[in-house]
Order: sequence, then structure tokens, then C-alpha cells
Amino acid sequence: MNTTRRDFLKLSTLGAATSVLGFDLAPAYAQLRQLKIARATETRSTCPYCSVSCGVIVYTIGDRAKNVTPQVIHVEGDPDHPINRGTLCPKGASLQQEIFNDRRLMKPQVRRPGADHWEDISWDQAIDEIAHWVKKTRDETFVERDAQGRVVNRCEGIAWTGGCTDTNEFN
Ligand code: SF4
Repeated sequence: MNTTRRDFLKLSTLGAATSVLGFDLAPAYAQLRQLKIARATETRSTCPYCSVSCGVIVYTIGDRAKNVTPQVIHVEGDPDHPINRGTLCPKGASLQQEIFNDRRLMKPQVRRPGADHWEDISWDQAIDEIAHWVKKTRDETFVERDAQGRVVNRCEGIAWTGGCTDTNEFN
């Protein structure tokens, strides 16, 4: 039987039950997957990115000691979840990156007026500074009535922006 490279890749990708080589590849695929998560703890969770709330399974390894943080080794859609039945959109499929990506911010940062860089600050300092500037800006820009004298009670001096790791609703 003549098999082109394209045929081989196509069949392999589809996980064909019987390979072009004449033997069944399915057990090998199953074993590969099994090895990856064999000793992992399975935790069911919910994708945090949007209100669709797809179910995910987070696989972690660790010795379960209280002072050891388990390491995430794999995240996938939960096939038993009634909302997504194991599927995830591209954003949800990249969920593991929210944990592993070396560009993930672990601390609040601030860029001071005139500065050309961001600096790390503590959570306490961030909350204190945010509270200070929100109160000051609100007091300075609060509008009780519009030009026609109608009561509006609005703050026109503060705007918010969100990012891709915030939920759609938060943004
Ligand atoms: S996987 Fe996609 S659709 Fe599902 S909750 Fe996450 S972001 Fe929303």
C-alpha cells in the first residue's frame, strides 16, 4: 500500500483506529495521554474568562503535603460539564498560560508621572494609592447638575480600562 506523507499525517491527526502501517494506533495515543496525567490530581473548576462558565479539569502533581504548592501540569475542558461538554474556546484552551506564562504579573505596578518604566509596589501601597487618587479625583470632578440644571450626580474625571485576563463583565 502506497502512503503519502500527507495521508500519514492526516490519519495520525485524526487518531485513526487502524493505521496505514497495519496496526492499531489508538492504544498508543491513549497510553501517551495516560502517562501525562497518570499520577495527577484531577480538580474540576470553571474557566474564569467569561460568563459562559465552561467547565475545566485542572491536573496537578504534588505530594499533598500542606506546605507544598501543587504544580499544574495540564488543563482541559471537562467532558462531563453540561455547558461545554469538554470543549473550550481558544481563550479557555490557553488557560494554563495564565498560570505559567513568565510575563504574568505577580504584583501591582505603577508608572509615575514622567517615568519611562513601571515599578512594582505592594498590594497595601496599591490600595492606599488607589483610594487616595479616587477620592481626590472624585472630589475635584464630581458634577451634581448639568448645564440645564438637571441633577446628574456623576463623576466625569475617572475612566477604567481592562485587559484580556479580566472577565468580559469586569471589562
Ligand atoms: S472557554 Fe471560552 S467560552 Fe468558555 S468560559 Fe472560557 S472564555 Fe468563555
